[in-house]
Amino acid sequence: MALLEIRDVVKTFGDFTAVNHVNLSVEAGEFFTLLGPSGCGKTTLLRMLAGFEQPDSGAILLDGKDMSNVPPEKRPVHTVFQSYALFPHMSVGDNIAFPLKMAKVSPAEIKSRVTEILEDVRLQEFSHRFPHELSGGQRQRVAIARSLVNRPRLLLLDEPLSALDAKLREQMQMELITLQKEVGVTFVYVTHDQGEALALSHRIAVMNKGQVEQLDAPEAIYSYPKSRFVADFIGQCNLLDATIKSISNERMQVEIAGVGIAETLPVAGAVVGQTGTLSLRPEKIKLAASLDVGDADEVHFKGTVHNCLYLGDVTMYIVKLDNGMLVEAMLPNSAAGRAKFFDDNDAVELAWRYDAGHFLLS
Ligand code: ATP
Repeated sequence: MALLEIRDVVKTFGDFTAVNHVNLSVEAGEFFTLLGPSGCGKTTLLRMLAGFEQPDSGAILLDGKDMSNVPPEKRPVHTVFQSYALFPHMSVGDNIAFPLKMAKVSPAEIKSRVTEILEDVRLQEFSHRFPHELSGGQRQRVAIARSLVNRPRLLLLDEPLSALDAKLREQMQMELITLQKEVGVTFVYVTHDQGEALALSHRIAVMNKGQVEQLDAPEAIYSYPKSRFVADFIGQCNLLDATIKSISNERMQVEIAGVGIAETLPVAGAVVGQTGTLSLRPEKIKLAASLDVGDADEVHFKGTVHNCLYLGDVTMYIVKLDNGMLVEAMLPNSAAGRAKFFDDNDAVELAWRYDAGHFLLS
């Protein structure tokens, strides 16, 4: 049985539907992420898990138990907010002990549980410090320790890293992964940052306009997006309009108008004449002044370099195809520094393996 089950949940505000028939389940021990652009409904869904909002219809089950009539404080669930919300006048130990005092746990039990959780988050030495005497990472660990001390079944994290600068954010991501592994609590994490979601999660639900567009492991979300929205939202992606020309068991031929025919993997339900989008990650494209066109597994086109963006580890080439369409190709820079392969207006040839492109039906 899944730890958490969300069954056909709908939430409206007036005539606006914020969460639209969402179904998903989360296994015990998972790091599960709700990912999507601002306004897609992820916080509303999280608030319903916490009990701060009630669904209009559908059900939320935890350990098989319907949570409809269970108030927030009675749910085995805790929320960590962006600001951490630590009490500034209380020591680390007192901050962590606070929920246990509220729950009228005995002083001896409080002492042993606080000691145990401080060890879990590697803050044994910091029990007497105050929040202003801690680094951002340590403060986050205290906030998580405080939310874990009541032994919730589920920890809800709402954009906990969004206020941090890039470097600290990266450190904290590592901290979060380590902590989650160590304490083994199930995380439901909300973010609009696709890089963060890919780095942290066991599985990701990509949300758009109140609905789950795709639910998969990070590798599947990145490599096999199931819709144009997911392909576009997750990382950089070329999206080329195309029409299906022929379909066989192993391959499908699609025509990119004004450019030519590209082979790709067949997709279920496709029929000849149907239109769609060929999605192709920039790092899957090879670029050269001239390429060997003999390889039947490769798709080849010609183009002209329109722009080059030096990005440190890679250079992004924006190449104009014959029909004027722009395609992004990402090439790694050499260890010796920037490999200056091409200049603006250079004629180039592009190639990619037929199975690197992924066709999305309209
Ligand atoms: P963000 O990343 O910006 O927080 P989100 O995906 O978490 O976005 P929600 O906060 O879930 O989005 O909001 C979803 C939609 O529901 C938004 O359009 C929002 O304006 C609307 N909404 C949320 N709460 C309320 C409310 N209490 N009353 C009216 N509309 C609301």
